[in-house]
Amino acid sequence: MFGRNDRGAAWRSRFPERATCVRCLQEKDLEGMDRLLWCEECQKAARKSATAWGWKGGAVLAAGLAAWIWLFIQPSDLVIGGWIATVVAALLIGSRVGREIAYGVMRFTNRKAVEAVPPEASE
Ligand SMILES: [Zn+2]
Repeated sequence: MFGRNDRGAAWRSRFPERATCVRCLQEKDLEGMDRLLWCEECQKAARKSATAWGWKGGAVLAAGLAAWIWLFIQPSDLVIGGWIATVVAALLIGSRVGREIAYGVMRFTNRKAVEAVPPEASE
């Protein structure tokens, strides 16, 4: 019994469990994958692209806010600094919220990446 378990452990460490990442369709070690079976590279890539989307959303939000302040509030020179700080805060908060939303949508739709090639088609 002792010997059998020992061999089993050795077998396991030599051949760690592999699984196919649902996003890039490549076989990767199960270790490092998350519960949706996204490999580490895909998680990183998704976060990176979500961050880019977040900044775009934040920029649109901040530009809209700046236009609204400019047109309707028409701040005097005395308080303009406070409004600029508000716009900057909107940009930062908007980019964070936008990033979370973009990442959440990517996780929710859980589709394979555009650049992913199914293993059988790659040769
Ligand atoms: Zn992957």
